[in-house]
This record gives sequence, structure tokens and C-alpha cells, in this order.
Amino acid sequence: MYSIKPLFTMKNRILSCLLLVLVFASFTSFKPDDPKVKKPVNVILLIGDGMGLSQVSYALMMATERMAFERFKTLGLSKTSAADHKITDSAAGATALASGAKTYNGAVGVDINKMPMTTILEMAEAKGYATGMVATCAITHATPASFIAHQPSREMYEEIAKDFLKTDIDLFIGGGYDHFAKRKDNVDLTAQLKVNGYMVIQSEQELYMYTGTQKLAALVAPKHLPKMQEGRGSFLANSTQLAINRLSKSGTGFFLMVEGSQIDWGGHANDAEYIRQEVMDFDLAIAKALDFAEKDGNTLVIVTADHETGGFALSGNEEDKTQNKIEPKFTTKNHTGTMVPVYAFGPGAESLGGIYENTWIFNVMKKTMGLK
Ligand code: MG
Ligand code: ZN
Repeated sequence: MYSIKPLFTMKNRILSCLLLVLVFASFTSFKPDDPKVKKPVNVILLIGDGMGLSQVSYALMMATERMAFERFKTLGLSKTSAADHKITDSAAGATALASGAKTYNGAVGVDINKMPMTTILEMAEAKGYATGMVATCAITHATPASFIAHQPSREMYEEIAKDFLKTDIDLFIGGGYDHFAKRKDNVDLTAQLKVNGYMVIQSEQELYMYTGTQKLAALVAPKHLPKMQEGRGSFLANSTQLAINRLSKSGTGFFLMVEGSQIDWGGHANDAEYIRQEVMDFDLAIAKALDFAEKDGNTLVIVTADHETGGFALSGNEEDKTQNKIEPKFTTKNHTGTMVPVYAFGPGAESLGGIYENTWIFNVMKKTMGLK
């Protein structure tokens, strides 16, 4: 047996002192929040389709509790016009947000010459970010489609579905199963998704139970999800939380797009209650994003719309002397050209104060994520 004495020789004492100093130094100089060590910034973009200021105001006015919208300190206004149309549709609106260029109405991820434009999601994917999308409509519908597909027309649902297979998106959750599995060409894209490493999920229940680590293709409705009024429940908030949990585990930074798809449809239907319930539901998803971002400290949350729908106004009744009753009115069954609000929180948020074109939002996301 050897004695422990030699451990306390002068040489060893000096060595262990040095070691202690090194350990101490490493704790003090390599803090994880060291500004010199730049971590990739996560971006969560939440799009309320057709959500103008009146849509948000109406929900706020009727709400009994504080809403997530009220947690933002940085606000901006986005000009939504398309390339050659003062009034945009959702395809051109989402393409401007996704790729930073105005295009024609109906265009999905292509420019005015029908040439494909790289989207923020594709750029993030190429840089090693985890990526995902959540929507309450078919995932092939104009808004989500414009972040991943490149087609001259939003009506080309089956071609759009095929474009999902050209990317390495980590998860997508929404409706649209039929565009993948019940197609005119009889090709079952869900089989190809499985080959590409996706867990294909067809129901909400299955989605919440899945604990595996595969990429997720959750197509939980044949086409669109039901309205809130028809019992959609907390699908959007749950899926947003699930997406954040999964994507943030990657540790590489992530990009997530969440759409409150049906606020727009309430506007088209001139149905104030439809709008109110969809905005309230969207707000719960925003709360999930903000809760995560506040804790994480390295996540930019942006909430905006592609355009306003319905020319929605919170009018009163002229005969009502109390002026205390809101009688919502609509000026159109279509979209309008009014500016839409932008709410921002987190690194890069300050660049979203003010008035700007919708394409600016793309630039801010791109810069914040350090993409080229
Ligand atoms: Mg949409
Ligand atoms: Zn619309």
C-alpha cells in the first residue's frame, strides 16, 4: 500500500491550487448567457388569419380576464397589400411574411414570375434549426402552405402536399389528411412520409399520447378542423405547447409558425361570435408562446395577421343613449386593405415597433435568427 503523504508535496499543492483556479475561472467566464457566446434565437410566429385591430378589440372588450395580447410592450402596424393588389389574399400575405417579397394573390411561395422563393422555414431548416407548423385548417391551406410549398396557385392542394416531402420540417400539426392520402393520383404520401422518418398521426388523441422522438406529421382532420363553436376545444393551445416542447428539445434553436386560421372565416361569414371565439382560442396559443419565451429569454415571439377580413367595426346603436352596447358591423364579406397590428416580444422585438410593409417582418426574423 502506498502512503497518502506524497499527495501533499509542494508540487501537488501548487497543481491542485491551479486546478481550483481553473475550475473557478471556467464558472465565471463561460456563463451560458455570455454575450460573446451567441446562441441561436428561436422564433415563434403566430398568424391570426384575417385578424385586424377590431377583431382583437372585440375579444378584449368581451373578455373577463386579461388576455395574452395585453402582455406585449412592443407594437407595430403592418401594411398588407400584395404586389399588384391593394387588398391581399392569404397566400400572397403569408408569402410576404415567409419569403420577404410581395407577390400576386393566390401565389404560394413563388414571386410575381411564379419563380420559387426560399422561405424562412426552409432557411432555418438549412441552418440546422428545428422547424414546425401548427394550424386549425388543412396544413396545405394558403397560410401554412406558403411557408413550405412553391406553387403558382393556392388551389393546388395535392401539389402543395407533395412539397412537404421536399423539406425536412420536424413537425406539422393540422388538418388536410385527404390531400396526402386520398389523392387524384392515388399516391399515398403518408407512406412516403413514414419512409422519410415521420410518425404519421391521424387523431388528436394519438397526438397527445405520442412520446417517441420521430418527426411528426399530425394530420388530425380530413380537411379543416372544426370551428370553436363546433367543439374544437383546446387543440391550438395544446398543439402549440406540444410543438414548443418538442422543438426546444433539439437545442439548436427553432422556428415555429402557428396559425389561428379561422378568425378569417368568421370575418367572411360576417359572424362576430365566430370571430370572438377564434380570437380567444388564438390568444391561448399566444400565452403558451409567451410563457415559454419569458422563461427562455432567447425567443422572439411575433403575433400578426396577413390582412383584415370583413371590415369589422365595433359600432354602437345610435338610439342607445348609454352608448354601452356594441353592435358589431361588417362592411364586406371579403378582405380589406387596413393595416394589421404586430405584437412582438424578445430579442429583435424592438425592430418591429412602427409602421412598415409586411415583408419587413421576414427581414427581422431572418436577421434575428442569423440566416442568409
Ligand atoms: Mg390562413
Ligand atoms: Zn380570407
